[in-house]
Amino acid sequence: MKDTVFPPRPTPAIPVKGRAGFPVGRIFCVGRNYADHAAEMGYAVDREAPFYFTKSAHAVLLSGQDMSYPPRTADLHHEMELVVAIGRTAKDIAEVDAMDMVYGYGCGLDMTRRDLQAAAKEKRRPWDTGKDFDNAAIIAPLTPKADDAEIGDLVIRLDVNGETRQQATLSDMVWSIPEIIADLSTLYTLHPGDLIMTGTPAGVGPVVKGDVLRGTIGDFDPVETTII
Ligand code: MN
Repeated sequence: MKDTVFPPRPTPAIPVKGRAGFPVGRIFCVGRNYADHAAEMGYAVDREAPFYFTKSAHAVLLSGQDMSYPPRTADLHHEMELVVAIGRTAKDIAEVDAMDMVYGYGCGLDMTRRDLQAAAKEKRRPWDTGKDFDNAAIIAPLTPKADDAEIGDLVIRLDVNGETRQQATLSDMVWSIPEIIADLSTLYTLHPGDLIMTGTPAGVGPVVKGDVLRGTIGDFDPVETTII
């Protein structure tokens, strides 16, 4: 096949400091990966296995752009998360090899139409309309992984209008980065360009038009947006 009936939709690319962009493949999201967030949502942490949902690459909004308040919701929530960027093909990867698959890290916001998600949960339906919608994955510029970098001590934090709403350390995650990559790679073949949003700490809550969100993890580039 040498042509397409219309030009393909461009692949979103996340800026990387001083380098070409990181083209996004799939976006995998980990559910309930901080015990205090699981508790605030009314769940105990399940140590049996992590679980996932996905967002389309076309849900990406680059940090620094405004987010239009999305349709069909009256309860748009912020979830501040560490984003792990995959740089190599990974299938059935052992935990001990998993960090070799990581290209880098970033700050991300898993924006959520909480009312639609709650309705889906109640009816035992999929979460897609609550989680995977236009501009629902706000991603900051990536920081390439340093060879021996240990990031567990980094503080993850989200401020709304200058007031801290979420704060934890990355080592609070129930499932570690290598555990997540190893497990995901038994469910899917991971490819360069895939992103993993690794779950959010406690403190999630609603945002309204005019709110200014700023999320940080250590000295990674912050994720920033204004709701309009
Ligand atoms: Mn999340």
